Amino acid sequence: MRSDKNDESSNYRQATRLTHTGNHPDEYHGFVNPPVVHASTVLYPDYETMRTRNQKYTYGTRGTPTTDALCEVIDEMEGSAGTVLVPSGLAAVTVPLLAFASAGDHILVLDSCYSPTRDFCNEILARMGVEVEYYDPLIGAGIEKLMRDNTSIIFTESPGSNTFEVQDIPAICKVAKAHDAIVMIDNTWATPLYFKPLEHGVDISIHALTKYPGGHSDLVLGSVSANERCWKQLDRMKNILGTSANGDDSYLVLRGIRSMGVRLKEHEKNALEMAKWLEQHPAVGQVLHPALPSHPQHELWKRDFKGSTGLFGFTLKTEDMSKAARFYDALGLIGRGYSWAGYESLAVIVNLKDRTVAKGPEDGILVRLNVGLEDPEDLKEDIEQAMRVAGFSN
Ligand SMILES: *Cc1c(COP(=O)(O)O)cnc(C)c1O
Repeated sequence: MRSDKNDESSNYRQATRLTHTGNHPDEYHGFVNPPVVHASTVLYPDYETMRTRNQKYTYGTRGTPTTDALCEVIDEMEGSAGTVLVPSGLAAVTVPLLAFASAGDHILVLDSCYSPTRDFCNEILARMGVEVEYYDPLIGAGIEKLMRDNTSIIFTESPGSNTFEVQDIPAICKVAKAHDAIVMIDNTWATPLYFKPLEHGVDISIHALTKYPGGHSDLVLGSVSANERCWKQLDRMKNILGTSANGDDSYLVLRGIRSMGVRLKEHEKNALEMAKWLEQHPAVGQVLHPALPSHPQHELWKRDFKGSTGLFGFTLKTEDMSKAARFYDALGLIGRGYSWAGYESLAVIVNLKDRTVAKGPEDGILVRLNVGLEDPEDLKEDIEQAMRVAGFSN
């Protein structure tokens, strides 16, 4: 959907806009929230309207009042010209790549990308005749030396998946502009509340709405927001591919977004407490959390981000995978499972085998922790007892 920039709500501060944008009670008999529209067919009054598709809604895959309400609030947060909703966070990566990569292009993708992004690049873009080069996420302005005449896209993600490198996005955007390349970011970690990529020169911002916007581990959905330059081509590709979002999940995400600001503050606080505690723990080597002063790109994070969220990494001081697995299996409160950003804490033993440059910490075994909304003291006790079971000293 293309957002209406004349909306009077844009004068309010962020928390107010997050709460109110997208709701139009006057259009629904005063009901505060939009209806969940289940739709394929939309009726037209006559042949001429149908021929020209000259009405607001034309078909279920092309948007409904429910999906529009969600797009409106995302546009408001991202400062984008338009947002498309797609069926998953992964589709939010693949749809814009398909919209802007053509046979014969060279594209640059950070080495610490979400690993299914790499699978798509290697298995689909490669087959389309697109050359994909993985770059060091810490390259910054140095990306200049990788640019070629046919470089069409620089794909970024900050912090990087699992290894949490913070990228110098403004420096990368400056190089991209000079070469007329498009910059995309997977902005899932920060959410549009804590990082505003379009303000730093990024063209396309990607979200797994599955994560904090949904926030309850009960849905998958994605969004792609574009500036004026890229909006039309992005929207066209979503329509060509038929990757539309359903009303029920769109509604749940809209509902989640109303409380995302307050949830994030709690995730941020709890995660920082856990990160600081782990940093002091004798069984822990390193903690990879951008908001800790010990993080190598902490200053960059402070310069560009407005906050941190609940996902970070730490290494167990061992090279013995079976010892790490014993620790992992002994976790009780903290769940073993993929995805993150829900209310419940989760841990994953990270696999970095597909990395070519950003190989992560050199010693120890890397664990990714999603800190939920539990009392951090209970999480600490869970980790402590699992370390005892696995035979770590403390
Ligand atoms: C989870 C995730 C995705 C994919 O989201 P799904 O909705 O699970 O497909 C994409 N990017 C990042 C950074 C993620 O963490």
